[in-house]
Amino acid sequence: MSSVPVPPPKCLLKPLVVPFRHMFGPGPSNVPPRILQAGANPVIGHMHPEIFEIMNDIKSGIQYLFQTQNRVTLAVSGTGHTAMECAIFNAVEPGEGVLSAVNGIWGERAADMAERIGARVNTIVAPPGGVLTNEEIERALAKHRPALFFLAHGESSTGVLHSLDGIGQLCHKYNCLFLVDSVASMGGTPLHMDRQGIDILYTGSQKVLNAPPGTAPISFSDRACQKIFNRRTKPVSFFLDLKWLSNYWGCDGKPSRVYHHTGPVTAFYSLRESLAVLAEEGLEKSWERHKEVAEYFHTSLESMGLHLFVKEKVLRVGLMGCNSSKAHVDMVLAAMKDALKHCHENKL
Ligand code: PMP
Repeated sequence: MSSVPVPPPKCLLKPLVVPFRHMFGPGPSNVPPRILQAGANPVIGHMHPEIFEIMNDIKSGIQYLFQTQNRVTLAVSGTGHTAMECAIFNAVEPGEGVLSAVNGIWGERAADMAERIGARVNTIVAPPGGVLTNEEIERALAKHRPALFFLAHGESSTGVLHSLDGIGQLCHKYNCLFLVDSVASMGGTPLHMDRQGIDILYTGSQKVLNAPPGTAPISFSDRACQKIFNRRTKPVSFFLDLKWLSNYWGCDGKPSRVYHHTGPVTAFYSLRESLAVLAEEGLEKSWERHKEVAEYFHTSLESMGLHLFVKEKVLRVGLMGCNSSKAHVDMVLAAMKDALKHCHENKL
């Protein structure tokens, strides 16, 4: 007779089964064996010198990926949402203004997060599938005078890539920090954090980078740090407090790092390897490959008689990182052709 009233679950006595899937949606994307294997290395301590070396490599990789010299560049332990909250919770104090560009769900979520910390939130809404002009953005900045302006670069809910040109300069003219979400675009299309005047930029690990979900690269400009490190109030989250995180990641120039949380070391290994893959290919090559493959996909869809934006039914296809190849496009096209044969009003 067992002394524990809750028995071991039968399901756990069966072996773990995970199928192989082609991941051609908005994310996550497939993780190549090299990156998976990196994550299978032995667990070491989150304060061991070797993990600090790996974290330093990751920092350099993110600086390259983001095209930034920012000292405060690190990876948050968590998914893209964690980086989003890290940016907003640190950059905004209660009562300050946040302006969010809504061209899909990410602008709505950023507004929601800012509301939760007692910010005064305003939105500028783009038509579905559309973008905002710099004039519209400037008018809203002049009207609301926010401390932070949020914009999603790659809006994965509509598939729209928003231009960033000139917006950083506009934000600075109105003494506002420019926050950019590049979870769905980073590595697949040109973005220059420093040159484009972006103050806070984050991405995820699981899209173009092809690492498992669970780490989120983020970087803060000196202007952003100036504001964040001189706050009157503490950020609501201890876990995401940039003072703690920048010390753990060795970004604050202090001689020693203090325990903050147990860094997910195996996720760091995978992230490091994914950044190494990108460094080997080269950013420009990766941008070019994604552009070429996207163009091939778009013309092939059009030659099937499909339009790129369908009002009633939108299919979101993501071919990111190692999935961005013509062979993968051909697989998606074959599957779509097959699916369309079973549609009622099939015109093919
Ligand atoms: N922003 C964008 C543009 C995204 O596409 C996603 C993920 N779909 C996120 C943020 C959130 O990332 P995560 O699911 O990793 O939290």
